[in-house]
Amino acid sequence: MEGYGKYCDAGRTRVKVIASPREMRRLVQEHRARGETVGLVPTMGFFHAGHLSLMKAARAENDRVVVSLFVNPTQFAPGEDLEDYPRDLARDVRMAEEVGVDYIFHPSVEDMYPQPYLSYVEVEGITEGLCGASRPGHFRGVATVVAKLFHIVPAQRAYFGLKDAQQVRVIQKMVEDLNFDVDIVVCPTVREEDGLAMSSRNVYLGEEERKAATAIYRSLRLAEEMAREGERDAAAVLAAVRGVLEEEPLVRPEYVEAVDWTDLRPVAEMRGKVLVAVAARVGWARLIDNVLLDLS
Ligand code: AMP
Repeated sequence: MEGYGKYCDAGRTRVKVIASPREMRRLVQEHRARGETVGLVPTMGFFHAGHLSLMKAARAENDRVVVSLFVNPTQFAPGEDLEDYPRDLARDVRMAEEVGVDYIFHPSVEDMYPQPYLSYVEVEGITEGLCGASRPGHFRGVATVVAKLFHIVPAQRAYFGLKDAQQVRVIQKMVEDLNFDVDIVVCPTVREEDGLAMSSRNVYLGEEERKAATAIYRSLRLAEEMAREGERDAAAVLAAVRGVLEEEPLVRPEYVEAVDWTDLRPVAEMRGKVLVAVAARVGWARLIDNVLLDLS
């Protein structure tokens, strides 16, 4: 925020950077009172084309666009990359401005988590597997911060990327179970030319690791291909996915799974909507990617 003042006036739209939750809510309520629609894009910043695609979708469908930029400490476990998570507010503001964002909500940790902080949102079941298995408390942190954002930014629509597929299901379920009055819009995964899913964490990759990381999407494309050709045995598909990953010693898989899209439980036979998902360590980075297959 320092050096920015309240407004940033490069570019065409003058993004307003708002730090105060109270002020943010007041502004959104004013827009709503005028009959305008508001779209929210929750992010942790260090924007790439994936973030921008969400902002563009929000821009196309709403009168006002709010992007929240908050590296949320409650979704990082001790020992994860909270301190090292890449941050560059000035660059983010410029990029958001270019796609016509109206507000960046950039609160402090102290304002988001008044001490002692005692209230959390827990989505059960679908948070146990996949990333939930190795990141205890992660989805509790995600659900909590997104619930708070929905209260601070009472938008009609909120935009999320399918790249974080389990997160999408957790938010959809939270909205359904707790009666949030917001439509969740799911946007496709944006990729580099060689297929690697865009991620703020890709900056952790060295040159060799960056090349090796392309095996992740290659392996998922093979899964897609096998399903298209009629393979329905999840074990056969997952073995083929692992085979591709094993060709790259720099890629260390954490999980390779085929799960039902509704309950995120592993399937033996691939029918209906099936998510094939991979998490892998590549060097210091933990990368995730997936393909959502519609096999009905
Ligand atoms: P993050 O800043 O990583 O928390 O991501 C903020 C939002 O951007 C989430 O809804 C992510 O799913 C979405 N996102 C991240 N990477 C991509 C991508 N490569 N394509 C589409 N959406 C993405």
